[in-house]
Amino acid sequence: MSEQHRIPVTVLGLGTMGRAIADTIHRGGHPTTIWNRTAGRADSLVAKGVALAADPVAAVEASPVVVVCLLDDESVRGTLTPLVDALAGRLVVNVTTVTPKQARQTSDWAVEHGIEYLDGAIMATPEMIGLPVASLLYSGSRAAFDTHRELLELLGGARWFGTDAGLASLYDLALLGSMYSMFAGVAQGAAMLASEGVPAAEFVAMAGPWIDAMLSALPYHAEYYDSGDYTAEVQSLDFNKAAVDAIAEAARDQGVGTDVVAAVQTLIDRQVAAGHGKDGFARIFESIRRPIPRA
Ligand code: NAP
Repeated sequence: MSEQHRIPVTVLGLGTMGRAIADTIHRGGHPTTIWNRTAGRADSLVAKGVALAADPVAAVEASPVVVVCLLDDESVRGTLTPLVDALAGRLVVNVTTVTPKQARQTSDWAVEHGIEYLDGAIMATPEMIGLPVASLLYSGSRAAFDTHRELLELLGGARWFGTDAGLASLYDLALLGSMYSMFAGVAQGAAMLASEGVPAAEFVAMAGPWIDAMLSALPYHAEYYDSGDYTAEVQSLDFNKAAVDAIAEAARDQGVGTDVVAAVQTLIDRQVAAGHGKDGFARIFESIRRPIPRA
């Protein structure tokens, strides 16, 4: 076992994700200390030999590396602020889902108080932690990332995005945003078919392969976004507007909501109104990148 494997690690937060992280680190050979606001959530780990600290200060003092996996930024700040003295000189790896701004603020706070800081974002569910399919994004201290790479890789593939602590979170939320929009689109389609009694299972059996096939278009979209040249030989925005308007009309006719498709209509309509109807569909990127300033 290498020196890396013996570094004591503390995990603050034992929700479903925190428990998976603590369990994986413990199984990876690190002396592991845990703490959670609510007692009881540590029981399964304690049964495996993980050390439960009496209080958060004792938890932090047990290890040079403190992994924080709490609900949100508010719970992170509420938990870490009273621990500032105990945390000085240690590394905080905060894998709680936060916004880039929140990650930067916590990083600034940490650095100001002599705490090394690495922000992490988890692209995995708890069952995936420790498996090759799990991917974790990091930004902040490069030295911390390099020094503790072996530990971080225990949880899943580890990739560093830069010294700006907000970047891991920005990538995380960009990826999650794509996912949520995709699921919302499928919900729209399922609702339209449900209006005729078609089970969602039947619909998703078709929607999955359809979305899979469409994924091959993503690199072409990226080329348009990066170049800013949306010249299209086929499938102009005008063409797509007709299709998307038809989806909205059909949804209304079937008595189901149009919220998801209405958002796409708005993105298209702004570009068509600005005279870009002959450009390709990828031009909706401009509607998002340059939003209408709020009054
Ligand atoms: P969870 O099961 O709801 O656990 C939330 C944790 O936060 C618990 O330990 C809870 O403590 C603690 N907590 C909440 N409010 C607190 C406060 N005010 N002060 C102190 N502790 C507080 O959530 P989870 O699934 O473990 O997720 C943890 C983080 O991982 C989240 O940021 C989530 O977005 C991220 N994540 C989760 C997944 C996933 O699939 N679960 C995937 C990617 C990322 P108590 O037990 O005392 O309530």
